Amino acid sequence: MTPVATADEAASALRARMTGSVIVPGDADYDAARHVWNGMIDLRPAVIARPHRADGVATAVEVARSGDLQIAVRGGGHNVAGLGTIDGGLVIDLSMMRDVEVDPIRRTVRAGGGATWADVDRATQSFGLATPGGVVSETGIAGLTLGGGMGWLRRRHGLSADNLISAEVVLADGSIVWTNESERPELLWGLRGGGGNFGVVTTFEFRLHPVGPEVAFAYVLYPLDAARAVLRGHEQIINADTGDISSLAVLGHIPPIDDFAPELHGRAFVGALAMYAGEVEAGMDALQPLRELATPIVDMSGPMPFVEVQTIYDPDYPAGHRYYWKSARMDRLSDTTIGALVEAIERAPSAHSTIDLWLNGGAMAEVPADATAFGSREVPYLLSPEANWERPEDDETNIAWTRTVLDAAGTDRAAGSYLNFPGLHEEGDALVRSSFGSTYDRLATLKRAYDPENVFRRNQNVLPAGE
Ligand SMILES: Cc1cc2nc3c(=O)[nH]c(=O)nc-3n(C[C@H](O)[C@H](O)[C@H](O)COP(=O)(O)OP(=O)(O)OC[C@H]3O[C@@H](n4cnc5c(N)ncnc54)[C@H](O)[C@@H]3O)c2cc1C
Repeated sequence: MTPVATADEAASALRARMTGSVIVPGDADYDAARHVWNGMIDLRPAVIARPHRADGVATAVEVARSGDLQIAVRGGGHNVAGLGTIDGGLVIDLSMMRDVEVDPIRRTVRAGGGATWADVDRATQSFGLATPGGVVSETGIAGLTLGGGMGWLRRRHGLSADNLISAEVVLADGSIVWTNESERPELLWGLRGGGGNFGVVTTFEFRLHPVGPEVAFAYVLYPLDAARAVLRGHEQIINADTGDISSLAVLGHIPPIDDFAPELHGRAFVGALAMYAGEVEAGMDALQPLRELATPIVDMSGPMPFVEVQTIYDPDYPAGHRYYWKSARMDRLSDTTIGALVEAIERAPSAHSTIDLWLNGGAMAEVPADATAFGSREVPYLLSPEANWERPEDDETNIAWTRTVLDAAGTDRAAGSYLNFPGLHEEGDALVRSSFGSTYDRLATLKRAYDPENVFRRNQNVLPAGE
C-alpha cells in the first residue's frame, strides 16, 4: 500500500479499506471511545479503528505500520495498566468482534477477540457448559486469556490459557493465520500466557466442561481479628482438596451497599470465597468447613447459578474509578505475612481497596511447566493488593500503599508476579522477565520469528531474541 504520512491519512486509508468505524480527535464519540476501564489512564490515540472482521484488523496493522504509528490492541479494555490504549498511536479496538458460537457436541466455543466473559458465559451456559474465565464478567477474554486467566474453575480445569485450543491471529505482516496443536503449535504455546506479543487474536477457541447451571458457592466474611484462624483454616481446606474447590481469601472493608446491614458498613473483614466445580449438594458439604472458620459477620453462601457467581464481583469495579493493582507469587503464607496483611488493610487509604490472596494449585499446577508460556504456575499463593479509589488527588497515597503491602508481606520480587496485575507496568522488562521465568527465552525466540520488529509492544512485552 502507499505509505501514509500523517494520522489523518491513516484515518482516510482505513475509512477507504476497512469495514468498521474509524474515530479521530474531534469526533463526537472520540472521548467515550478513547477511555478504558481504569480512570487513571488518560491517553489520546491519534486514531481508533473498530474493525468488524479479521481482514479489517489486518488492514489496520498494515496502515499503522506504513505510517509508523504505534499500535495498541484493545479487547475488553480492562487491562489494569491501560495497555489497551496509547498516546498518539492507533488503537485497534475489537469491541465490534464479540460473536460467540458454541459447539455443544465437540464441547468447544469460538469467540471474537473483543468478547467479554459475560458474552461467553451466557452462550455456553445455555448448554450447561463453561470454560475457565476470571471472576468479573466485564473483563475481556483476550487480555485475560493471553495473560493466563485465573478464576473459579482454575483448580478443576486450569487457567483460561490452558483451555485455549486454537486461535485465529493477525500477524505483524498483516497475514491471517490459524494456530492449534498441529498447525503452528509453537504460536499456540506462546498465546497460552505469553500476552499480546505475537499478533492480534481475532478468534479464540476454548475447550468446554460441564458446569452448573447451579453451583455451590461460599461467600463468608469474618471479623478481621480472626484473620489468623481464618487464613490458616482456609489454607488447610485447600491443601486437602483435590481440585474441586477454587477459592480466594480477601481482606477489606464492608461496602455501604444494600446487601449489608447499615451497622456493618465500613467494618474490616477477612473473607473466604469459593466455588465448587461439581454437584451442588456435594459442593455445599465440601464448602461447609469454609463457613465455620470463626463466627462470621455475614454468610451469603448457597447454591446459585454459575452466571451469577461469574458476576458477583462486577459491581465492585465500576469503570472510571481509579485502580492500581500489583501482585507477587509466594511459596508459603507465614504468620509474619498474615500479621502484615492485617496491619496493611487497617491502614488502607481507601475503604474500596482489598488485599486478595489466590490459593492456587490443583489443575493449574498440574499442567507441565513447559506446556504453556505462563510462568511459575506451580507456586501455591498469589498475593494481590488492589488499591481502588475515586479522586485523582489520592493517586500517590494509594499507589504507595499498594507497594508497601508487598514489602511488608516480605514478598520476593525475583519470584515474579502475575502479569495481569502488574501495577502500571512501571517495572518494565525486569518484571516481565522474572514473571515468565523459565519460559522467557523460548518466548523471545518465538517473538523473533513472529514479530522481529516488535510491532506489538504495548503489552507484557517480550523483546525479540538477540536484542
Ligand atoms: C475488574 C477486573 C477484574 C479482573 N479479574 C481477573 C480475574 O479474575 N482473573 C484474572 O486472571 N485476571 C483478572 N483481571 C485482570 C485481567 O486479566 C487483565 O486486566 C486483562 O488484561 C484484561 O483483558 P482485556 O481484554 O479486558 O484488556 P485490554 O485492555 O483490552 O487488553 C489487555 C492486553 O491484551 C492485549 N490484547 C487485548 N486484546 C487482544 C487481542 N485480541 N489480541 C492480542 N492482544 C490483545 C492488549 O494489547 C493489552 O496488552 C481483572 C481485571 C479487572 C479490571
